[in-house]
Amino acid sequence: MGDFICENISVNAEGHLCFGGQDTAVLAAQYGTPLYLMDEDRLRRNMRVYTDAFRRHFAPGSRVLFASKANAFRQIYRIAREEGLGVDVVSAGEVHTAKSAGYDMALAYFHSNNKTDADIRYAMDCGVGYFVVDGEEELRAIDAEATKRGIRQKLLLRLTPGIDPHTYAAVDTGQVDSKFGSAIETGQAEAITALALTLPGVDLAGFHCHVGSQVFDEDVFERASVVMLEYIAMVAQKYGCAARELDLGGGYGVPYVASDGTVDIGARIGEVAAVIHKTCARLGIAEPAILMEPGRSIVADAGMTLYTVGSVKRIPGYKNYVSVDGGMSDNPRFALYGSKYTCYAATRMHEPATLRCDLVGRCCESGDVIQPDICMPERVRRGDLAAVCTTGAYNYSMASNYNRIPRPPIVMLRDGGSYVAVRRETLEDLTALDN
Ligand SMILES: *Cc1c(COP(=O)(O)O)cnc(C)c1O
Repeated sequence: MGDFICENISVNAEGHLCFGGQDTAVLAAQYGTPLYLMDEDRLRRNMRVYTDAFRRHFAPGSRVLFASKANAFRQIYRIAREEGLGVDVVSAGEVHTAKSAGYDMALAYFHSNNKTDADIRYAMDCGVGYFVVDGEEELRAIDAEATKRGIRQKLLLRLTPGIDPHTYAAVDTGQVDSKFGSAIETGQAEAITALALTLPGVDLAGFHCHVGSQVFDEDVFERASVVMLEYIAMVAQKYGCAARELDLGGGYGVPYVASDGTVDIGARIGEVAAVIHKTCARLGIAEPAILMEPGRSIVADAGMTLYTVGSVKRIPGYKNYVSVDGGMSDNPRFALYGSKYTCYAATRMHEPATLRCDLVGRCCESGDVIQPDICMPERVRRGDLAAVCTTGAYNYSMASNYNRIPRPPIVMLRDGGSYVAVRRETLEDLTALDN
């Protein structure tokens, strides 16, 4: 891994930061800034860590789903398909993007705690394989629509297993008081299960849980598996229904800064599998097909954002600001969650980074901070290139046009070359919807 947060980052002889082995200064000159880079080789490698571990440890029918909310655009659905991943989609917009990329919608799982009637109809029109159902009202709406169409819609019920993964509150979702899913502890999980088994328009394929994001804690998935399998055993005994699938959600963490931990995902999945095998044997139930839905750990370290520095403001005795030509419009994560990032002056990698500063964006908002309290070289100035690492997850997918700033393009790096997967938004795009 060297000195960098991910092994696809390096420095060349000219002191330029390289990503996926390519000089960021050359890429910035070719495509302009701000610029999202995606290292396709790393992306595919990350997918294969999961698919290899799944092949080794889980029964046929088990599948990795890419949680596409982490970064959704057509090319990523094509890559997921080539790598044999299913996808998790959360809106008609993601369904449409996947479908229009030629994705096999039978492998799509439709999440969200509030699917509208229009979402439900559109997803069924597109042949979405599974709905992951959050609550009773939605379950009844799906049953009604499926019955009208004369189909039985496959679904998973989203349950909250009551596990706190000790990560940031806004991304914790597995506790009883979560807005997502039906809690096992309160009896609501059993009530919705019993209801699903009586409805003619639905086929209850199994159960889902998702405990949180940026999970490093050793045994979160093990604990969730045991709770869910015990629930599945109860349902089998009391209702005579054998769950065919158990979806353990996403959430493995990735390092953003040097002090973050790392997760050996392949090894971790082996440990989860061992607990699942043992628990199913203890409970005397057939092992369901296992699903996981990684988002961040597939895409985060495959991404980097490049910016051009516009100003360096020094306030003697107070602080320093380095402003770039993007900001919370392309990366709102510090503003939303206080997320940490590793940042560089990409063409001054051989100079010591001794200027303490905040890296800020161009939006009219004091909270438009990409990362506070970082270090840049003393000579950093207008026209320099700045790089923010590990931006492949929840950057493009959370980007906005705040201040009518066009969104950057996504340029993919593959086999030493590059291509545009999403073009840069134009000023005309910004007014395309206006009357
Ligand atoms: C966000 C989410 C994921 C992906 O989480 P990551 O932390 O990006 O791996 C998976 N499943 C569900 C239901 C989610 O809400």
